[in-house]
Amino acid sequence: MAEKVIIVADSITVGELAETLNLPVTNLIGELFRNGIVATINQRIDFETATIIVEELGLDVELEKKVAATLSDRKTHTLSDKAVARPPIVAVMGHVDHGKTSLLDAILHTKTTDQEAGGITQHISAYQTIHKDRSITLLDTPGHEAFAALRQHGAALTDVVVIVVAADDGVKPQTIEAIRFAKSANAKIVVAINKMDKESADSARVKAQLATEHDLNPEEWGGDTVMVEVSAKTGLGIEILLDMVLLVADLEELKADIDTPAEGLVIESHMEVGRGSVVGLLVEQGLLRTGHFLVAGTAYGKVRTLLDFAGKPLKEAGPSTPVTVTGLKELPQFGDTFTVVKSEKEARNAVAVARIEQEKNAASTNVTGADLLRMMNQQHESQNLNVVVKADVQGSLTSVIDSLRLIDTKGEIALRVIGSGVGNISENDIRLASDSKTLIYGFNVGLPPAIKQLAARDKVQVRIYKVIYELLDDARASMEAMLAPEVVETEIGTLTIKGIFRTLKDEIIAGGEVTSGKVTSGLLARAKRGKETLAEVEVTKVQRQQQEAKEVFEGEMCGISLKISKKLLLEEGDKLEFFTRALVKRTLK
Ligand code: GDP
Repeated sequence: MAEKVIIVADSITVGELAETLNLPVTNLIGELFRNGIVATINQRIDFETATIIVEELGLDVELEKKVAATLSDRKTHTLSDKAVARPPIVAVMGHVDHGKTSLLDAILHTKTTDQEAGGITQHISAYQTIHKDRSITLLDTPGHEAFAALRQHGAALTDVVVIVVAADDGVKPQTIEAIRFAKSANAKIVVAINKMDKESADSARVKAQLATEHDLNPEEWGGDTVMVEVSAKTGLGIEILLDMVLLVADLEELKADIDTPAEGLVIESHMEVGRGSVVGLLVEQGLLRTGHFLVAGTAYGKVRTLLDFAGKPLKEAGPSTPVTVTGLKELPQFGDTFTVVKSEKEARNAVAVARIEQEKNAASTNVTGADLLRMMNQQHESQNLNVVVKADVQGSLTSVIDSLRLIDTKGEIALRVIGSGVGNISENDIRLASDSKTLIYGFNVGLPPAIKQLAARDKVQVRIYKVIYELLDDARASMEAMLAPEVVETEIGTLTIKGIFRTLKDEIIAGGEVTSGKVTSGLLARAKRGKETLAEVEVTKVQRQQQEAKEVFEGEMCGISLKISKKLLLEEGDKLEFFTRALVKRTLK
């Protein structure tokens, strides 16, 4: 273990790295040069390169990649001494066709009384069931996509993972992923060995596989993993499974505060005709009620309706409760956190701050019209992300390649596996990768130092992972980085011109009333007369009562300076529609 661990982001400039390492920057540039990288002080190098260089320099320092703030930080939410017990949050996972959905159905059908009223036929991803007078919250994790998303956003929420393994099929790649997920999320594992009604069921074989290959030893063999034999079809063992889930959860003493403003996670969101935004939330702390002002990511609003997972109205929702709310003015995103604030004003402020954060994070850049045209004119030719995949054994190689192929981009970016094999990264792989823009992914394999150097020299990126979904996330991020950005215009407010003070060649100074939203300097605006758009202008200054102001809100009068690029004569009654325009990195849906 190195003496010092330094956290760095995905990439770092040479200058910053030198500073962090407390080294003369020339030493660093020299070392990079020796490795075939000609760099300047402002050049960005990626994490892998930085790691190699630090190793080459023989420093007793270990670089660690900075992970984006995750919810795991929140699990350590300091609880007050008034915290109360909360229901466990249980994710049900397993290989496709092993009976995850059937098991959830069995649990809910036997347990939930009137859910025919519309509960589980709707698309929702969290449910609650009552077992022996106690609630259990169940998260459904359908498909691969959701799995990755859950890992990113919900890992820290998950207390227990029920891993469903079909007794007639045994451990499969997604079983292994589920085990990895549970371990990385620090969640307790309960194994449900399903399809026990089948003649070909062989639970001993499943247990042996789990014990010998995955370090999950059944209790009856002296281990500490609870394994329950069930049949989603006949209902066998379901009660015991739920008993066990509660038992395992009880060891964790799960608690939450309720006399604190409600907060939690957005687990789904969509628009519905007649209802507006319909948002699924999982409450983590506090009590959520209708009428509360809620901020979720960059969306806010007053909770109009509060429903439980089955669509029944709730008076209030406490910790671990999945709910659906309406009333937000916009759609928050899956994985956004939400909080309740005191007033609409506070909500608006929080959203403004969130917007700024988002703008920073989304690597979106405010651009001028000229930039934009240039970007838009750039050809959106379809592109390939080429990869070479190496893995420790054939089984994992197949599952990595299969999973990579599942990353869908609707044809814009194609992922091509141009080489693959079992074993450490080799010179051959580097050669294969160096004549095209190719990433090498290693799964559970080594990268010998000589090959590492070779890779650095040829600027070939080698990425080694031990966890499959981290590898997949990386591949997805690499593909996203190749997507052409999207132009997003966000409406900020409107103003009606009440008077023109001065009209110059390149500037107009006017007065007006903000009729919706707000105005700040730096915004773009469409100048409109009736339906006709006269010009696009830029706000350079905003004044309230002759004082320069940062922002002026709906209902207020203000003075405003506009930068104009062509002759424009505004008059009383004309309108300005303020907006921001940004190039936003797109993500793969
Ligand atoms: P999922 O992909 O993991 O959600 O699996 P499903 O719940 O869709 O089940 C896959 C198939 O296995 C379906 O045809 C189910 O009817 C069947 N199945 C699920 N559980 C059982 C079980 O306990 N016994 C038997 N015999 N079949 C089951």
